[in-house]
Amino acid sequence: MKEIVVSGIRSTGNLHLGNYYGALRNFISMQDEYNCYFFIADYHSLTTHPDPTQLNPNVKSILAEYLAAGLDPEKSSIYIQSDVPEVCELFTLLNMHAYVGELERTVSFKEKIRKQPENVNAGLLTYPVLMAADILQHKANLVPVGKDQLQHLEMTRKYARRFNTIYGVELFPEPDAYKFKGEPIKIPGLDGSGKMGKSEGNCIYLNDEDKVLSKKVMRAVTDQGPTEMNQQKPDVIENLFTLMKVVSTSDTYNHFDELYNKCEIRYGDMKKQLAADILKVTAPIRDRYQDIIKDSDYLNKVAKLGAEKARESSAKTLKEVREVMGFRSFK
Ligand code: AMP
Repeated sequence: MKEIVVSGIRSTGNLHLGNYYGALRNFISMQDEYNCYFFIADYHSLTTHPDPTQLNPNVKSILAEYLAAGLDPEKSSIYIQSDVPEVCELFTLLNMHAYVGELERTVSFKEKIRKQPENVNAGLLTYPVLMAADILQHKANLVPVGKDQLQHLEMTRKYARRFNTIYGVELFPEPDAYKFKGEPIKIPGLDGSGKMGKSEGNCIYLNDEDKVLSKKVMRAVTDQGPTEMNQQKPDVIENLFTLMKVVSTSDTYNHFDELYNKCEIRYGDMKKQLAADILKVTAPIRDRYQDIIKDSDYLNKVAKLGAEKARESSAKTLKEVREVMGFRSFK
């Protein structure tokens, strides 16, 4: 059987370089080889950002960015989570076998309690169950995840196993983490922080204008420069090099690495090169995005096609789950 892959990105604004290199680029490389379901997690986004004026534009924008970056609706099922209501029913059913104690012990839940103590909602607590429903509804075998999602995936495996054991069936496969070649990539922020992320407020977005993008790169935090040959790079400088390793050619990377080691580096030159290399990647995506975002008919068509494919797969699983759990017509 062709392996089934599921993954999604939360719809909390535009996509940044971290989303692109950490997730989207990998999705694109998978779509020829696997039976893929890629979705936009709009329910999930509500656990932290419930803003009705932003929900629709954010979802639309991410869909346009998925397509502009190269996801192909003919090859993969690209859908919006809330267009597949079956996932809510499976979520409800799985909740009956998810225990509050184990959910409270989830690292991401503990983190969220710390970050938003004023809004510790039940959606935050049951986030891993909804994620399990996202995956199990398609009986996925593989889930491309970053390090931060490994615990959630482990919980999905646990819920699959628990369901199969309780009902004496082999209904759900236990999905494996699909790790891309080598170590998972972490795109750093250029403000001295370890990670590029929306909550860190340090993102370079795929659809940033040239000038905006260049300005962000030119403002990257650096130091006075190396004072000894071959000295170890401090974190802020390592961040610049990490990003360059991802977006530039190895010749370019080696050139600046050598200059650093010889204490001859000029950070301004390196930043200019880095901005130019990022733009080489993002500008074509941004241009396609500008066209796609204007075409609501096309976006609606893509979302409808994706929802149809996803609902078909989800409804099939749900029918089996209902049968197993005892939802039947009277005899
Ligand atoms: P999020 O925007 O947090 O919903 O993340 C969506 C996807 O992008 C997940 O697969 C993350 O692992 C990935 N991602 C987000 N930020 C980064 C980053 N700075 N470096 C690498 N991957 C990231």
